[in-house]
Amino acid sequence: MKTVIVEDSELIRTQLQRLLRQQPRIQIVGTATEETEATALILRTQPDLVLLDLSLAPGSGVHVLRKIREAGCGARVLILTNNTGQSLRLACQQLGANGFFDKSTELAECLAQIDALLPPLPNNESLRLEALHGTHLVDTPEQEAFDNLTQLAARITDAPIALISLVTEDRQWFLSHCGTEVRETSRSIAFCAHTILRNEMMVIEDALEDPRFHDNPLVAGGPRIRFYAGVPLVLPSGEAVGTLCVIDHQPRHLSDGQRSALKTLASSVLAEIELRRRLLHLEQESERRRAAESHILHLATRDPLTALPNRATFRDRLDQHVRFAQRRHTRIGVLFIDLDHFKPINDSLGHDVGDDALVKAAERLTKVIRNSDTVARLGGDEFAVILADIAGHADAVQVATKIINSLRTPFIAKGHTLHLSASVGVAMYPEHGGQGDQLLRHADLAMYQAKQTGGDKTCLYSRALSERAEETQALDTDLREALRRDELILHFQPQANLSAGTLCGVEALVRWRHPHFGILPPDHFIPLAEQRGFIGEVTRKVLDMALRQLRDWDEQGLEVPRIAINVSPSEIRANFAEMIEAALFRNGVEPQRLELEITESTLSSDGVETMQLLEQLRSIGVSIAIDDFGVGYSSLSQLHRLPIDCLKIDRSFIEDLETSQFDLSIVDAIITMAGAMKVRTLAEGVEKDGQLHILEGMGCHCVQGYLLSRPVPAPEAAAWMTDFMRQPRPLELAS
Ligand code: C2E
Ligand code: CA
Ligand code: CA
Repeated sequence: MKTVIVEDSELIRTQLQRLLRQQPRIQIVGTATEETEATALILRTQPDLVLLDLSLAPGSGVHVLRKIREAGCGARVLILTNNTGQSLRLACQQLGANGFFDKSTELAECLAQIDALLPPLPNNESLRLEALHGTHLVDTPEQEAFDNLTQLAARITDAPIALISLVTEDRQWFLSHCGTEVRETSRSIAFCAHTILRNEMMVIEDALEDPRFHDNPLVAGGPRIRFYAGVPLVLPSGEAVGTLCVIDHQPRHLSDGQRSALKTLASSVLAEIELRRRLLHLEQESERRRAAESHILHLATRDPLTALPNRATFRDRLDQHVRFAQRRHTRIGVLFIDLDHFKPINDSLGHDVGDDALVKAAERLTKVIRNSDTVARLGGDEFAVILADIAGHADAVQVATKIINSLRTPFIAKGHTLHLSASVGVAMYPEHGGQGDQLLRHADLAMYQAKQTGGDKTCLYSRALSERAEETQALDTDLREALRRDELILHFQPQANLSAGTLCGVEALVRWRHPHFGILPPDHFIPLAEQRGFIGEVTRKVLDMALRQLRDWDEQGLEVPRIAINVSPSEIRANFAEMIEAALFRNGVEPQRLELEITESTLSSDGVETMQLLEQLRSIGVSIAIDDFGVGYSSLSQLHRLPIDCLKIDRSFIEDLETSQFDLSIVDAIITMAGAMKVRTLAEGVEKDGQLHILEGMGCHCVQGYLLSRPVPAPEAAAWMTDFMRQPRPLELAS
């Protein structure tokens, strides 16, 4: 209820304001202290209620009352005064005051009357408001369908005004208004606020005769309602959101026909409201579906981690670019990017850190390339870029270099400082492929080449890469076959302690007896088996053949103290020790007679895990030799911590031993160091007497090399060893 307070005493004014604010349905729209100001305020704000003091300084409340009534204002006016003389009371009544109270004694009565003026609220008010706002009709523009219905209502009932009134928290708002330009009034004076309390039509034939409305501002002032008939608009869910009503300025009544017509029209209004509600619902539903679809599309086309296009999207775009380039005779560059050594980051620091690093790497890539280019995450630590419309491969390589450089600045991922580098392969349209998939495959091949040659570099695709890849693929198939067909065989190379004249052992070296190419050395197929992940099968085969050979020699009475086999770095992982133990058991060989040769690089790669595995092997009783020692990364000072039995000094140090002071001092240091640690030493690749003498002088335990014997098939090895044990100085044999 919009209320104005006219009172010149500040004390009383603030007290009134405080009291009225306790009723949330009362809204004080202004206060005034003197006559002119008060009159102007009331006429401007058109309140529903005025609390009026009679003695104003300057001016008089009686004057205010007269002036506003003369101006047609119908607001209810309650007089609050100290001057309660009977004649004054009468005068005020005649001027249209609606109540007269003694300020000092009747304040409570006054407030009670104000409360009584507020129309009661329906029991389901909050549900009702929810349902009303659910229609999304309040404060919408006029709609023809509703206007047609109010016009019809006015015509049928022969009334000057017809309205569709929606009753909100504090207003009635007219969804359609026929016969008046007014679009809303306060709820506190609305007839319709009473209609919605009922289930059926409310008819007020003469408002002046009804105690609820006789002094209603809409009756006393514009639009001077005398007659009202309203049908509540009750939604299917049971809430009355408003009315369809007709109004006349004369007292009158409705015929039965008019009543039922008005009800029918109200049903039509409801049908329209319901129709709109459903349409809106459908719209919202399809909006939701659209949003869901675009979300799904995003999921299908984007990589969820980096939000870059995914592999499928990349392939699509690449095809588009190729078609475009075909028509325009332009070129495209395709970059295949793979982060170097990324797996250890994930493994050791956790996936959170890895993911964060990938997101940041993606950001850097995006910054380096142009807007017209596409960068995508293909999966894992692989990214790819389309360089649209590029002049030539030199430019593409330049972008690739920029990318590598951009990744070189250390990353901070979840608090960890990471140093990343990348290998990038470049393929060009049209020279390196006419189709998207081919370009991507060739860029991948080039990336692989970059990685193979140390990483942190760019490689441009060439035909030779494909040829090599094809050969490798063919070899791969053949090698798997070879394993099944027992085409792998062993050659043996003896290891001897010359000063003692004893045989230390024999190294088993694998060969492939290829049906077309003859005997292939291990470097033709071992790296392939390592890459393709079936080196384990090769090792199992070699291990079994070697152990069986040792047993055979035992049975022939040839006592070979130990057999050594080579183990690839990638095999040094879980279950390896069990596999070894099972093979020893299967072949009935004591663990002490097996030596595993592992390269130095294996030791430096993954500390803890490798160390545990070596300990495990040693606990079985197997002996461990470091192969190719000296060329790897481990420093001599680390050696004492490793659980090893033998150091095999790399061939490269032996080769120039007679002439190179440098090699001499290294080999000397290795032997001294190993001696201190009680680790055996074995020199590889001994081909000359001179080398042998030097090694003997330094105290090297064993030697292996062409000087003694090349790696040879078992029978020849047996013959050599038998001979050696009978004639203990092969040095003299050789010379
Ligand atoms: P490695 O373990 O260092 O093997 C020694 C290699 O040096 C052998 O080559 C051998 O023939 C060669 N060699 C021995 N004495 C001399 C010499 O006096 N002068 C010269 N110039 N070379 C000598 P091979 O048999 O071609 O083996 C090459 C590599 O293949 C091996 O190096 C080893 O790393 C790997 N390999 C051999 N057999 C196996 C196997 O069964 N499993 C695995 N994983 N790797 C193997
Ligand atoms: Ca070896
Ligand atoms: Ca070696």
